Parts: sequence; C-alpha cells; structure tokens
Amino acid sequence: MTQIRIDRTPTPKSRPGPEAPLPFGKIFTDHMFLMNFDEDRGWHDPRVVPYAPFSLDPATCVLHYAQAIFDGMKAFRGEDDVVRLFRTDAHAARINRSCAQLCIPQLDEGLLQDSFHALVSTDLDWVPGRHGTALYLRPTVIATEAFLGVRPAKSYLYFVIASPVGAYYPEGLAPVKILATDTHVRAVRGGLGAAKTAGNYANSIFATEEAHKAGFTQVLWLDGVEHKYLEEVGTMNIMLRIDDEIITPPLAGTILAGITRDSVLTLMRDWGLRVSERQISITEVMQAAEDDRLKEMWGTGTAAVISPVGELGFHDRRVKINGGNTGDITQRLYDAVTALHYGRANDPHHWMHPVRTELARAA
Ligand SMILES: *Cc1c(COP(=O)(O)O)cnc(C)c1O
Repeated sequence: MTQIRIDRTPTPKSRPGPEAPLPFGKIFTDHMFLMNFDEDRGWHDPRVVPYAPFSLDPATCVLHYAQAIFDGMKAFRGEDDVVRLFRTDAHAARINRSCAQLCIPQLDEGLLQDSFHALVSTDLDWVPGRHGTALYLRPTVIATEAFLGVRPAKSYLYFVIASPVGAYYPEGLAPVKILATDTHVRAVRGGLGAAKTAGNYANSIFATEEAHKAGFTQVLWLDGVEHKYLEEVGTMNIMLRIDDEIITPPLAGTILAGITRDSVLTLMRDWGLRVSERQISITEVMQAAEDDRLKEMWGTGTAAVISPVGELGFHDRRVKINGGNTGDITQRLYDAVTALHYGRANDPHHWMHPVRTELARAA
C-alpha cells in the first residue's frame, strides 16, 4: 500500500459553531490532499497538507484548454457519531472514467479511496453533526504542464478539498421549477457528456442564466441531436413517474452516470417498482401532464440527494406536477437514502464506509 504522508497545520482555522449556517461550497477545512503525476514517476507523493492556494504558471494548460475532471461526494456524521463515506468505490471508478475521456492518466482506485479517508480523518472534527449536514469532498485532477498547445499534458495534479455543508432543504423537501430548452444543448453523442469535466459546466452557465431570468431554478436539458428527448436537469439526473412507470433516460454517453441515480434505481427495484431506463420525449411528458398521468418528477445528485420538481415549463406552457408538491416516491427515496447516510438503516448493498481513522494516525 502506498504510504500517505500527513503534514498537519500548526495553525488550525476556527471552525463554524454547531448552529452556524453552512452555505454550499464556501467554507473549507484545514487540510487538502495532493498527489502529482509526471512522466518519469507516474502518480507519486500522495499527501495531506495544510489547505493553501496553488501557485500556477499563467501558461498552465488547464487554464486555457480545460483538461480537468472532478467528482463530488459526501461524508456524514451518523447519530451514533460514526462518520461514513458514501460509495467511495463508485466515485473512484467514475474519476477514472472521466480521466480516460480527457486523456488523463489513470489513478489507483484503492489509493483514491484512501485519499478520501485520509483527508476526512485528518479533518474529522470538521464533519458537522446536525441532521442534513455533511462534509462535501471535491476530488479534482488538473493538467499542470505549462505550455500552449492542444495535446494531453505531461504533468497533472490530483487534489481533494473538503467543505462542511448545511442541509440542502432545512425545512423539508422544497419542489423546484424547471424549464426545458430546445435551443441550448448540454452535450452531444460523441462528446464529453458522460465525463465530469469542467467544460460541461462552463457550457451550462448561459442557458441556466436564461432559465433564471424566466423564473425557473434549473434547465431541463434535451438531447443534442433532435432536441426532443430528456437528458438531465441542471447538474442532476432526471426521473419521473407516469402512472406506475418510473422513467429515467438511459446511460448512452451523453449524460453523467450519477451515483445517486444508480442508488435510487437500485432501491426502487428492491422495492418492486417498475423502473424503465428509456428515452422519453418532452412531448410525451407534456402530454402525460395534460392527461394528469404525470404523477411526480425529481432530480438526483450528491448535493441535494433528491430534488422534487413542482413545475415544468416548455415553450409557452407551464404545468404543475402533483399540485406543486413533493410526490410519494420522491419523499420515500429521500427518506431511504438519508437514513443510509446517517447510519439509521440497514445497508444491504454496502454503500456506507466508516471513515478509516488509522490513515491519519499512522503518519
Ligand atoms: C455530478 C452530476 C450528477 C449527479 O451525480 P451524483 O453522482 O449522483 O452526484 C448528474 N449530472 C451531472 C451533469 C453531474 O455533474
């Protein structure tokens, strides 16, 4: 096993108090995880060090050509005070899939998982305890070679930063309004839609601002070829229920394989629900809404876990879903996944991984 060096900060920051609001992604812990790649040594020098800015040459290629990938996952402090990480193996595997699409050298998935455990255990006191809170981890890989030219870089930095985050829905699930767009696209077949890569997010900003101006929270992306089939909502996977069929777009290379998506599909199949991974057009969805057969709709992702959709807009039409309220399956999924997160439920699929504190102690 590769030894991870731990270099603790001599000057810890003051941590937010137990009642402090924790806005998403604004507060960072005392440490970060770093590891470098170069052609001679491969990936080397995995270490936890004090959180600090990077110094980068202005020609660093990631700043120009966005050869970068990231991921996002959470650690939760259970009611039993045990801190658990969610599906680290699936996140490590996805990091490598994203890297492969960006021509970034593969990382050891065991070491990736160790990096999550090492950082969380070093900053264990930063994992908040109130219900609904978590420590959000942001593993990232950037191309660090200083050169202007479009080809895979010869050097990379892997880093993980951690941010305590508050409950996404402090007052219970709150349905959002989403706007389907057939003028902007997120990804096309043969593109990078299945990778968690910086460029996809840069590309989403314009359409999202337009949706905000029209009074909606998120964009419902349609496919990039026919501008017809549902793809994703904002940076979440989309699911809906028409009568008793639960439908979600298939993983066909243009959408991200969400780990929350996979988890809730597994739960719904465990529960014996009828789940279809199939294409569904915006016309079919609007028609179902008109016929009162569109019973519920929700997004899935690490940040919100489950985000109910209360209103859907497309062109000049707007439809309310379930009277603008959270649907039954939406709520049941949210309750089931969060019960696992906080160690309150049986975990037959072994998704929760108690943080391994010996990684921080060994050093
Ligand atoms: C991260 C992300 C998701 C959700 O994935 P999870 O693993 O569930 O967090 C969905 N779509 C996009 C575009 C994403 O970036």
